[in-house]
Amino acid sequence: MKKIQMVDLGGQYQEIKEQVNASINQILETSAFINGPEVHAFQKDLEDYLDVKHVIPCANGTDALQIAMMGLGLKPGDEVITADFTFAATVEVIALLQLTPVLVDVDPETFNIDIQAIEKAITPKTKAIVPVHLFGQCADMDAILEIAERHDLFVIEDNAQAIGAKYLSRTGKKSMAGTMGHVGATSFFPSKNLGCYGDGGAIFTNDDDLAHTIRGIVNHGMYERYHHDVIGVNSRLDSIQAAVLRSKLPKLDTYCEARRNAARKYSKAFKDQPNIIVPTTVNGCEGICDICDCHVFHQYTLRITNGKRDELVKFLNANDVPCGVYYPIPLHRQKAYLDERYLEKDFPVTNQLVKEVISLPMHTELDDEQIDYITSTVIGFVNG
Ligand SMILES: *Cc1c(COP(=O)(O)O)cnc(C)c1O
Repeated sequence: MKKIQMVDLGGQYQEIKEQVNASINQILETSAFINGPEVHAFQKDLEDYLDVKHVIPCANGTDALQIAMMGLGLKPGDEVITADFTFAATVEVIALLQLTPVLVDVDPETFNIDIQAIEKAITPKTKAIVPVHLFGQCADMDAILEIAERHDLFVIEDNAQAIGAKYLSRTGKKSMAGTMGHVGATSFFPSKNLGCYGDGGAIFTNDDDLAHTIRGIVNHGMYERYHHDVIGVNSRLDSIQAAVLRSKLPKLDTYCEARRNAARKYSKAFKDQPNIIVPTTVNGCEGICDICDCHVFHQYTLRITNGKRDELVKFLNANDVPCGVYYPIPLHRQKAYLDERYLEKDFPVTNQLVKEVISLPMHTELDDEQIDYITSTVIGFVNG
């Protein structure tokens, strides 16, 4: 059996090596390292893939979120509601811009932001909601967009983990993750579903004016050379990363399907285990159906309900099965984001999830032998 890895970027590279190397070589030959034609071409390719009017590439996913918030003109003191159970980047940029983060609990089935908790958290100061499409599946965008409309709030989608996922709205319309709110942000960090070979990110919007504003912000607030109209940042996707992403984008759907395939096999093996809850996919499908493209499994995350999650982590590590705990501490209990307004009773789900979740190896190169070994190792422990 091949050594099991949490993420197998090397194996994936071997499959696309010639094309990637050729495209990188071309950039080395032309020296168009910054703002080269590959960046513009990738931007167009991604606009087509996502069916969105504007993609603005930038340096990483954290910048993408920050720049999206700057573009919307959010002001210090504005309250921004986001999920307590996510990677810290989401809340970090809110705080960095001196906006007020308002963390709320999540849904126990999807791990995504809880709709009732959003409603409860809204005050006259609330200006935006940041749903995070955690682990590869969209938050309940119908409900979020409806709340936003009713309260005149911006919706900023943190799509760092769900690029390529589709969302089926209750009206029957299918949209790509990240393109439904006023603005979406994504990351091309190497281990993300569409990863480059360094750092990268992008912002999406269908709003022409917002796109124009953001294009200036990423470039030092310049709309005309050496005229700085607003305070901006320097945040660029470089040409080599754009070339890598351009080679990988046509394969993204196949990559997502490979992840779903692995997830289906995992869930089939774990289905009747009493101490394991497998991930739920929404959009009406039961468990992980064969046609569902609503989940792209950035992570495959189980809940271990017998209180032995930490022991399982040790057992898997000792048996050469890598795993991860995303995330072990709720953001509302992180030192940097403590706020006396947060009450433990308002976070029952996150507080439970941090004790139960475990993410198994998930990437495009998992084979059946590895999956069988992983599932039987997990089941052996949980039943033992
Ligand atoms: C990865 C990630 C980010 C940040 O992306 P970087 O490119 O690492 O800056 C933001 N939000 C979520 C949910 C992420 O998973």
